[in-house]
Amino acid sequence: MKKVIILGCGGFVGSHLTDRMLASGEYHIEGWDISFDKISQHLDNPNLSSHQRYIDRDSTFEEIEPYVEGAHAVISLAAVCTPAQYVSSPVKTIRSNFIDAYALIDLCAKHRSWLVHTSTCEVYGRTLSSYVPTDNYDNPDLYEQREDETPLVVGPTKNHRWSYSTAKQLFERYIYAHNVENGMPFTIIRPYNWFGARMDFIPGRDGEGVPRVLACFMTALLDDQPLQLVDGGLAYRTITYIDDAVDALMLMLENPKGSQNQVFNVGNRGGEVTMKELALMMRELAAEITGKEKFRDHPIEEITGEKFYGEGYEDCDRRVPDVSKAESRLGWKAKTDLRETLRITMTHYFEQYGREKGLHPSQAK
Ligand code: NAD
Ligand code: UDP
Repeated sequence: MKKVIILGCGGFVGSHLTDRMLASGEYHIEGWDISFDKISQHLDNPNLSSHQRYIDRDSTFEEIEPYVEGAHAVISLAAVCTPAQYVSSPVKTIRSNFIDAYALIDLCAKHRSWLVHTSTCEVYGRTLSSYVPTDNYDNPDLYEQREDETPLVVGPTKNHRWSYSTAKQLFERYIYAHNVENGMPFTIIRPYNWFGARMDFIPGRDGEGVPRVLACFMTALLDDQPLQLVDGGLAYRTITYIDDAVDALMLMLENPKGSQNQVFNVGNRGGEVTMKELALMMRELAAEITGKEKFRDHPIEEITGEKFYGEGYEDCDRRVPDVSKAESRLGWKAKTDLRETLRITMTHYFEQYGREKGLHPSQAK
């Protein structure tokens, strides 16, 4: 039995990883989170020890230290990671993604424990193409994101949307520094818009605030409100199914030789879509899943980034991962296409929140 620590095991990624690790029967998890609602079905499993705590720099690491020594891996997922919060609460975002978290790196360095950290593709920031008005994505060298080559390019400090990207970048650099100076093994993962069940709350039902785009569009579909396209919905994202992403994480944990001391993009190149195309596809799928034809004409409206998120918003224009490293070192490639990813994810959302409005898939005619 391999012992692992997971910080943030109760979140979207953590809950899917916990499902998979416990199903394998090969891991014992020491899991930390504020909430275990998404993994409540596992709380009696003897291979999960749950620690319901708020992790901060000063208090929690004393408590975590005894488990770090001798752990197969320390997996760090806990973070503030929704764009609305990067703009509305940049202090909280930087504290969560660096200040409250960096002591974990010191602990892993002290014990030479393997730190597996989920960073973000947002560390790349904007593409170089976006700064060349005439480029129009003609040259992949200016937009394709390669882990060990591509520069990390973000906007000015006054656009505090980059609070998250830069805190994550400093975290990566501090990990790397401890590897170079103290031999701490690490794996850094840069997720590309992982989508799946339990991804985010629906405002007014099980959370408050502005979630990520999938849950924003689902809220609008459930509540008969227009889908809102920020700045025309021209930004691209590369959407990856959570089960494929968890495959990559499991392969990393099973293969330290292939995965240690590396940064990996984990994304589905075939899942690239603009937010406008995403909205159109989700309207169609909503009709197919619920049997309600009205969704095909569901209203869509445009809104500025500043109005939607507040002052200080700036967007990533495009995120195209080079995934050849994950392929050659781990034998990993995403298997699930965009439409299927959305169908599975939206079906879960309609099952969870749709019954009251006759939108549960079982109510489809
Ligand atoms: P999530 O918000 O669903 O999960 C994060 C979990 O961490 C939550 O359960 C939260 O309660 C917990 N947490 C946060 N701060 C904590 C604290 N101080 N103490 C205790 N628990 C705390 O997010 P997610 O989508 O599961 O993302 C996991 C990681 O992957 C994050 O580091 C995120 O930056 C990174 N990431 C995810 C995506 C994606 O597509 N989901 C994309 C880029 C990066
Ligand atoms: N977005 C949108 N409408 C919404 C919510 C988000 O058009 O209701 C856009 C947002 O401006 C960005 C993209 O969708 O271009 C993805 O946003 P998300 O919140 O999922 O996070 P990100 O991918 O930026 O981390």
